[in-house]
Amino acid sequence: MKSILLFILLIGVSSGLTFAQKDIQSQINATAEKEYARLEQLYKYMHANPELSGVEKNTAALVAKELREVGFEVTENVGGYGVVGVLKNGVGKTILVRADMDGLPVKEETGLPYASKAIVKNEQGNELPAMHACGHDIHVSVMLGTAKAISLLKSQWKGTLVFIGQPAEETVQGAAAMLKDGLYTRFPRPDYCLSLHASASLPAGKVGFCPEYSMANVNSMSITVYGEGGHGAYPHTTKDPIVLSSYLITQLQTITSRQTSPLEPCVVTVGSIHGGSKHNIIPNEVKLQLTLRSYSEKVRQNTIESIKKIARGLGIAAGLPESKFPKVEIDNETGYALYNDPILTEKVVVSLKGTLGDKYVEKVPPVMAAEDFGELGKVQPSIPTFMYWLGTVSQEKYDESQATGLQMPSLHSSLFAPLPEPSIKTGIKTMTKAVFDLLGETNKKK
Ligand SMILES: [Zn+2]
Ligand SMILES: [Zn+2]
Repeated sequence: MKSILLFILLIGVSSGLTFAQKDIQSQINATAEKEYARLEQLYKYMHANPELSGVEKNTAALVAKELREVGFEVTENVGGYGVVGVLKNGVGKTILVRADMDGLPVKEETGLPYASKAIVKNEQGNELPAMHACGHDIHVSVMLGTAKAISLLKSQWKGTLVFIGQPAEETVQGAAAMLKDGLYTRFPRPDYCLSLHASASLPAGKVGFCPEYSMANVNSMSITVYGEGGHGAYPHTTKDPIVLSSYLITQLQTITSRQTSPLEPCVVTVGSIHGGSKHNIIPNEVKLQLTLRSYSEKVRQNTIESIKKIARGLGIAAGLPESKFPKVEIDNETGYALYNDPILTEKVVVSLKGTLGDKYVEKVPPVMAAEDFGELGKVQPSIPTFMYWLGTVSQEKYDESQATGLQMPSLHSSLFAPLPEPSIKTGIKTMTKAVFDLLGETNKKK
């Protein structure tokens, strides 16, 4: 009998998981399967009814209601429409799980039966078409499923969970606003912060990870280039801000190509330029909007300072009075790079591989997109954070893209159409087990 038991035990251990872990995993998987139908309804509701950054009132109410139902103590309106759910269950680690809730001002063109047709007001009160083009509705669905699954396992772990619905990710303001409103002082301070993000390039069923820097820091910048307008036929009597803006744009390219080490990522993109009203009028001003990306704070500061210097130099060269030198404004103060703590990454990757199998867990390269999740770890003392990519693309579309070289719709595209079922189920299974395993660190020590 003993030898049979030992044999069974050895098979269990040799396949990567112990029996106890397998039992936990099968309980988690069962919950994910059982809860899916209800979560799909919630997902499709959120997808059809997106809300823009800073005005996520209904989504926040939904998150609050769902977290309460599975036993979390919930506080609403933390840093705007932020929701904080706390589940205390004895002495142990404190784990924060974050889902962002906002949609984007994009008109959906996926043709899905539950596609958004919503026209909604943004924070400034302007009416815009809206869509969950970044998959934040997937994130919320996964977090709610995870809350349910982990709460059902309550007798098998000890510790504290802090599940947050974060507003205003797309404007890179929500995480900072929640911190400022006491996320770590009014509520338990986490030992680890976890999150996931929908991936538009990984097949559903797979997850991706990138240790250390995985997403860039971001600054939005506005520049107003002033001139002295006049008749287009008498340019010599004017100071033409359109010509000055053209100089400015070409000079800005040298920040990345000549001022930053080729080994350091740096992006300076002018995404919008507006000036003038008619063929033959030289305007008084031109407005530009820029996005700046890098990983290191040194590169970020150098980029900002260089833009200011180039703008000032342009004003001097044009012979403008100092009051009419280009005005440079930075729209956000923080926007830190997303840094995946290497030790935490390693721990969670072991868990992900245990849940899905090695071939469904892929190491992926860093990107220059930005995420404000990293801000949750940029506190004193710092908190290890880890965000992984959750595949959402159908295998057929993925294979087709690999074969033809045609790009699949990216995040923020009006055509981004994640596959809900395998994505949400994979999200719940992996996130719940990752949380459980991290909570288990203390349980093991006792
Ligand atoms: Zn986004
Ligand atoms: Zn996003």
